[in-house]
Amino acid sequence: MDNLEIQKAILEKIKENDSIIIVRHIRPDGDCMGTSLGLRDILRASFPNKKIYSVGNDKSEYLRFLGEEDGPLDEEIYKKSLIIAVDTGSIDRISDDNFKLGKEIIKIDHHLPVDQYGSINYVRDDFPAAALIIVEMYDNFKDELVLPESAANFLYTAIVTDTGRFRFRGVGQRVFELTSILFKYDIDLEKLYANLYLKNKESLRLQSYIFSHFKVSEHGVAYMHITKNMMKRFGLSYEDASAMVSSLDSIKGSLMWILFIDQDKKTIRVRLRSRFVEIVEIAQAFRGGGHPTASGATVYNKKEIKELVKMADEKLKEYKENNEGWL
Ligand code: AMP
Repeated sequence: MDNLEIQKAILEKIKENDSIIIVRHIRPDGDCMGTSLGLRDILRASFPNKKIYSVGNDKSEYLRFLGEEDGPLDEEIYKKSLIIAVDTGSIDRISDDNFKLGKEIIKIDHHLPVDQYGSINYVRDDFPAAALIIVEMYDNFKDELVLPESAANFLYTAIVTDTGRFRFRGVGQRVFELTSILFKYDIDLEKLYANLYLKNKESLRLQSYIFSHFKVSEHGVAYMHITKNMMKRFGLSYEDASAMVSSLDSIKGSLMWILFIDQDKKTIRVRLRSRFVEIVEIAQAFRGGGHPTASGATVYNKKEIKELVKMADEKLKEYKENNEGWL
């Protein structure tokens, strides 16, 4: 089936169901939140007689400005609902334990596929944000679908965050064409970017600490392990600490940068990023996955941190030996 046919099949499923629950991945980011809330508001505006919910069990403090989701919901509601999971490549990362109770599940995603858990699995890894799939569906079926202003705002937030403000791989003509559709409304960019960029002073102090303490492997992998003690010392949450990954994104010759963040006593979250060279295989080797140049993984001790850095260093060495023009 081509894209239009799959989108048509998804719309048919939506029409067949009176109750729809949209779920997204754990540790929500701007894309999964914006896509879920944006799709919810399009469906609510288009099908006022249906019950449409957007749910997730966890929150991200920095996205509070997007407003609340709709859960928790009664189990009985799941049993009569179509579930649409957005922006989630693997089934164990769906932030909702009850989604399995649903009548049927549809996957709409843009990650490299890990689990094809839906009755329809619509994966567009050519799109740098899952929200673009929703905008394209709206555009293809605009005779039947309504895009309210709230949805335009949610979807725009999703696109700007997941494309790194239109900087990442995959941004091109189609992305701008689709994004421009959202500008049928006056999106308040000043307010949105204030919400996205402003930091508290504690975060800036930790950033300054990272700048003076990050390590660089032999061939240029920049990395830092943020321990529980550091979070305590700077008065920052795990989430604030995790957000520091972009602090290491602009070091010449460090085409890969990795942040290790103590999650609980046993678990260390790994956030891997890169330019030019692909990093996802390294994430996959350590219980993770994601996109070619933005991935996540999990390690359990310092030995594994060392192993992961070593693997990244070897990959970067090989890349530098075989490629020109990188920065
Ligand atoms: P993060 O650094 O957690 O923002 O992750 C970067 C990207 O990789 C996001 O698109 C995540 O959805 C994805 N990702 C993170 N952790 C995993 C994992 N364990 N398995 C699959 N994908 C992941």
